[in-house]
Amino acid sequence: MAAIRVSFEFFPPKTEEMEKSLWEAVGRLAPLAPNFVSVTYGAGGSTRERTHATVRRILAETALTPAAHLTCVAATRGEIDEVIKAYREAGVRHIVALRGDPTGGLTEKYAPHPGGYANAADLVAGIKRIADLEVSVSAYPEKHPDSPTVAADIDMLKAKVDAGATRAMTQFFFENDCYFRYLDKVRARGIDIPVVPGILPVQNFKQTRSFAARCGASVPAWLAARFEGLDDDVATRKLIAAAVAAEQVLDLVDRGVTDFHFYTMNRADLVYAICHLLGLRPAAKQAA
Ligand SMILES: Cc1cc2nc3c(=O)[nH]c(=O)nc-3n(C[C@H](O)[C@H](O)[C@H](O)COP(=O)(O)OP(=O)(O)OC[C@H]3O[C@@H](n4cnc5c(N)ncnc54)[C@H](O)[C@@H]3O)c2cc1C
Repeated sequence: MAAIRVSFEFFPPKTEEMEKSLWEAVGRLAPLAPNFVSVTYGAGGSTRERTHATVRRILAETALTPAAHLTCVAATRGEIDEVIKAYREAGVRHIVALRGDPTGGLTEKYAPHPGGYANAADLVAGIKRIADLEVSVSAYPEKHPDSPTVAADIDMLKAKVDAGATRAMTQFFFENDCYFRYLDKVRARGIDIPVVPGILPVQNFKQTRSFAARCGASVPAWLAARFEGLDDDVATRKLIAAAVAAEQVLDLVDRGVTDFHFYTMNRADLVYAICHLLGLRPAAKQAA
């Protein structure tokens, strides 16, 4: 099997309890030596500060390489540039640049801040003007809901790459064929950066289904059938979730994929098990 590289996505915690589960997850997953760990970003001052604090703590207390997410939402270019500079000063070398969602939620139409970055490609260019940081961006195998066509979506990806992005991580998906069909179109458009599949282990099927509906990811009938009747049966749900994710990633590996981005939801157990299946072992044990 070719060398597998993984990255883990976390979100900044809102409460002390969430803080505890985040750092437990980081501690459990860190020995798997991920390529990087990323921390999501919310609009508004306090969530922004939480992202920064989480990234700072990763830098201070672990050997992990953090990637800080950043969006264009509800801020002027000047304000966003200050965040980029603060990340750079803190020692961050990798930013995940995104447009972000409307502050009023996904039902609202997105409108750029009048003095802000117009879109994710514009933000990538802004980051590159300030510092030569590594920049990753998003990609949507099933099309972003705002985008009229898959081709328009891929045009946006091309604009982000032309502005300096060197990696894309995809929205989660459950049908691997859909990822490969998308990848063919991306390559045909002359985009040659890695497009790393985003894998969401289904911790909670009900939540996943409602989140998927909002972000334009489809939930196949076979997946719903597998979780049918398990709403109150956490233990079985977890076993099914592990089986579903294992099937998905092992098929991707069979078809040549070597890099994976995991949406951890700040929980380690399923992700750790899937990484084990992928052949990853804790660094200390590997050396022994
Ligand atoms: C890997 C990953 C990480 C993410 N991390 C975060 C995070 O940390 N914080 C967060 O808030 N969100 C995050 N998101 C969600 C993301 O912000 C939303 O999906 C958002 O709606 C789009 O931002 P983007 O940069 O992905 O979009 P883009 O790549 O800029 O655009 C996606 C598509 O929408 C089209 N589009 C964009 N704007 C318009 C418009 N005004 N009118 C018509 N079409 C338009 C583009 O042409 C493109 O086709 C993440 C998503 C992914 C896949």
